[in-house]
Amino acid sequence: MNTVLHSKPPVGPEYFEFKNLKQGEFWRHVPAYKDVDERTFLDHLWQQKHSVKTPQELLQTIESLASAEFIEDARAGFAHAPMAVRVSPYAISLIDWNDPYGDPIRRQFIPVKSTFLPDHPRLVLDSLHEQADSPVPGLVHRYVDKALFLPLAVCPVYCRFCTRSYAIGPDTEEVDKVELARTPKQWQDAFTYIASRPELEDIVISGGDVYQLPPKNVELIGNALLDIPHVRRMRFATKGPAIMPMKLLTDPAWVDAIVGVVERGRLLGKDVVLHTHFNAPEEITWITEKAMKVLFERGVFVRNQSVLIRGVNDVPERMQLLVKRLSYVNVHPYYVYMHDMVKGVEDLRTTIQTAVDVEKFVRGSTAGFNSPTFVCDAPGGGGKRDVHSYEYYDRENGITVYAAPSVKPGKAFMYFDPIDRLSPDAQARWAVKEIQDRMIHEALRKAGAGDEQLVLA
Ligand SMILES: *Cc1c(COP(=O)(O)O)cnc(C)c1O
Ligand code: SF4
Repeated sequence: MNTVLHSKPPVGPEYFEFKNLKQGEFWRHVPAYKDVDERTFLDHLWQQKHSVKTPQELLQTIESLASAEFIEDARAGFAHAPMAVRVSPYAISLIDWNDPYGDPIRRQFIPVKSTFLPDHPRLVLDSLHEQADSPVPGLVHRYVDKALFLPLAVCPVYCRFCTRSYAIGPDTEEVDKVELARTPKQWQDAFTYIASRPELEDIVISGGDVYQLPPKNVELIGNALLDIPHVRRMRFATKGPAIMPMKLLTDPAWVDAIVGVVERGRLLGKDVVLHTHFNAPEEITWITEKAMKVLFERGVFVRNQSVLIRGVNDVPERMQLLVKRLSYVNVHPYYVYMHDMVKGVEDLRTTIQTAVDVEKFVRGSTAGFNSPTFVCDAPGGGGKRDVHSYEYYDRENGITVYAAPSVKPGKAFMYFDPIDRLSPDAQARWAVKEIQDRMIHEALRKAGAGDEQLVLA
């Protein structure tokens, strides 16, 4: 008997790019930070205080790094964006200022006028219908056994693509924001509602962002929810680790508050974890690695939810690098979302086909439990659907039809690809209202649904 052994060819050094995290005092190339030492840069209060919120502050921070044209473009972009702007020095210093237009971090946080595209004709501000599924202010009860609690309306940064631009951040020239519950007194109504619904086992605490909660309020919310007997699982959701990881190193009181809730939950047999939101592999540096180690050592399990964003992570190799790098710092990639159909950010959306292609490439790169599920949060309130599970996909016109039998039985939901990504013929069809209606009707018919079943955003 001959045994033939086949060894896999060895990988080259380029394979290990995911371990190649930015090192040293990388912020010093930014004029405003050139004299900032490590101790200061790692101070989370310094990061908050020096966050950029206006074109003037941006100009003062980067000075000669970007052209006058770019600054002017950003000034016009700030005025037109549905979201307020806030960018941490950490994020500013990760931007490649030699190519601000192509940079994945700039694209997420700093709007520029010249890349604006017209909104899709079927797009609205609260595309997920969160307000329609909200029994008390600041609580979304869409799925039977889980709810989303939004305790505040501020974040450590503001993302251009935010799905809650109807509520998050200060009012802008374009949008007057809806009020969420923002004070411990208002939160009581949410706790009372959750306590009255025994089917609610799983609470997502999102926002706004729990990074902005003082430690005593992290404990207040955590303990109030742990005290409800039927609540079995909780997740604190925060963008923080992606854009201000140093807080986990220099705000021990906040970390202690999270760890305290996790540990009390463990004693009660309840699962408390952290969910975060990295989108680009460049967001993970030596500071992130150190910060995530603190959480790992202290027994805090971390999952990641990304958004699939054009020019940020919509290329298979970039998503693979993100997934490998997250796994390397002990963060489990959980979801990759289709970009929601929100106003003013068409240049960031991409197609369902892109999601399918990227997913196909990423699956098989690493452990199954580190391979994210690609989902479309169906506009109109259908909830998250595996992108592949469509009833029908008209690739030519960019219309996808989903059903959500356990969330909104008997209804049909649609996601629309960005029009600039379609063929010139299809773009011409979208320009005519009657043809739009006909294309939508036809897609529904092919999906086996009737017009009356459609819930549009
Ligand atoms: C995403 C979401 C949840 C949590 O869903 P999972 O699939 O369990 O992560 C709960 N409620 C709402 C309204 C949501 O959007
Ligand atoms: S951190 Fe989350 S809630 Fe805040 S602006 Fe970004 S996407 Fe929206």
